[in-house]
Amino acid sequence: MEKQSDFIREIIEKDLKEKKYPKVVTRFPPEPNGYLHIGHAKSICLNFGIAEEFGGKCNLRMDDTDPEGEKEEYVRAIIEDVKWLGFDFGEKVLYASDYFEKLYDFAVELIKKGKAYVCHLSPEEIKTYRGSFNEPGKESPYRNRTVEENLRLFEKMKNGEFEEGSCVLRAKIDMQSPNIVLRDPVIYRIKKEPHYRTGSKWNIYPMYDFAHPLSDAIEGVTHSICTLEFENNRALYDWFVGELISEPEKPKQIEFARLNLSHTVLSKRLLSRLVEEKIVDGWDDPRMPTLAGLRRRGYTPDAIKDFLKRIGVARNENLVDVSLLEHCVRDDLDWKAPRVMGVLRPIEVIIENYPEGKFETFECPNHPKRPEMGSRKILFAREIYIDEEDFSENPPPGYRRLTPQGEVRLRYSYKIKCKEIIKDEAGKVKRLICTYDPDSLKAERKGKEGVIHWIAKSNAIAVEVRLYDRLFTVPDPASYAEEFLKYINPKSLEILFPAYVEMQLGEKEPGSVFQFERLGYFCIDIKDSQKEKLVLNLVVPLKDTYSKKAP
Ligand code: ATP
Ligand code: MG
Repeated sequence: MEKQSDFIREIIEKDLKEKKYPKVVTRFPPEPNGYLHIGHAKSICLNFGIAEEFGGKCNLRMDDTDPEGEKEEYVRAIIEDVKWLGFDFGEKVLYASDYFEKLYDFAVELIKKGKAYVCHLSPEEIKTYRGSFNEPGKESPYRNRTVEENLRLFEKMKNGEFEEGSCVLRAKIDMQSPNIVLRDPVIYRIKKEPHYRTGSKWNIYPMYDFAHPLSDAIEGVTHSICTLEFENNRALYDWFVGELISEPEKPKQIEFARLNLSHTVLSKRLLSRLVEEKIVDGWDDPRMPTLAGLRRRGYTPDAIKDFLKRIGVARNENLVDVSLLEHCVRDDLDWKAPRVMGVLRPIEVIIENYPEGKFETFECPNHPKRPEMGSRKILFAREIYIDEEDFSENPPPGYRRLTPQGEVRLRYSYKIKCKEIIKDEAGKVKRLICTYDPDSLKAERKGKEGVIHWIAKSNAIAVEVRLYDRLFTVPDPASYAEEFLKYINPKSLEILFPAYVEMQLGEKEPGSVFQFERLGYFCIDIKDSQKEKLVLNLVVPLKDTYSKKAP
């Protein structure tokens, strides 16, 4: 395996050299309240990658300690996505909800040590009492209750004897701490909503800051890698672990910069709004930056991993241009995808001097750089389709495709010339009457001759093609907060029917990816494509049309 290097791997290498830990244990801890997106993939590749490289292990743990919004459906999707990326999470998936009993015992232990108390201040009061960066906090009037009273009240909270919001359990740390996170944080709250795994067994649920470090410790995680927004929480993480874990090897939290990707949003909350408001067709819509969406779109795990390797892991946040991801996809598919002929917006061409009923076949390589991928025969006959864009009545300067005056080569075949243009009532070109040059196969190919793609009618099947564009018109939609939906690209999906592709595609598996010569990469949709009607998704166009458009 090619070795990667970054500041986290350096820390781990040093820790192992100094024998601080016998072996590395990392984890990826998603909350099952939505589908994973490509930002999560950064964390997955980092955590699983490190475990593989250093001969350790990486746990997949559902961080499911808040019943609100968590669902079995998301658990299934998360597992599928991690597997799809090609990572191994050992025997089984772990669940923080399996530690509820242990976490409860930890809370009781804190109370017994005089380091936690039940507090009846309202959420607003807690917030005010906490102070601010410039203002020290004020102690809760409930702070100095006896251990016995706290134990009794906490037990009552657990048994459901209090209403939601009427009290919480707080850690007793330091209301004067310059780090606000340490000003007696809430560690348990009452929630009477059923949990998707534990049902109505619990009336209280641990807060993330409490459950997370202790779940890491329970699992023997050595390096707890998270994103920068948790930097201030590290002191709290260390406090809980220091108070409650006796083992000498304690997990070490290390923060890195999250991935931000242009022209999309990477937040489950915002993504779920796109789903709920039906702006997209579900979490796996091919325009979504979710792993399920990217998979359906035809992106590959290799391309995603290559992208993440190129952007690396560091501590400075930035907005990565999505065109880098598209570039990686192109790079990967260029090598993998067999070439086929596809015509997106067909116009009929009748080759007048080619006899009716006659046909010929031409041998075409399936991949120009990979002879081992073999070749196939494509049919040539009197009636073919070409793309609307490959014919122009009034060609702009430099146009090298078919015009009323000029000649163009059909890829792998003859040259044709246009003789007559037939239009529909709306004035749109419907059909071209052309002639072919029977000697043009042997003719010397001059450097600059125009070449277009085509497909014989009798070798074509009509398919639906879905062309995708970026979901947002601005680079950083999340910066508009709740207004982000105003920047949805109204042209992010265009459906074409009928488009024509080689008949052989009818035999291919859903998910297969092809390069339509001269156009781009297309993949058979894994959800909507059927034997009777193929549906193909645009993965990426061959050229980066955005950079080209830029001045
Ligand atoms: P979101 O902001 O999308 O809701 P989250 O952080 O709340 O994400 P979790 O399920 O808690 O979602 O995330 C699991 C792990 O993935 C966390 O360790 C988190 O740090 C990491 N992660 C989430 N988003 C990104 C991102 N954009 N880049 C890198 N890592 C991320
Ligand atoms: Mg989270």
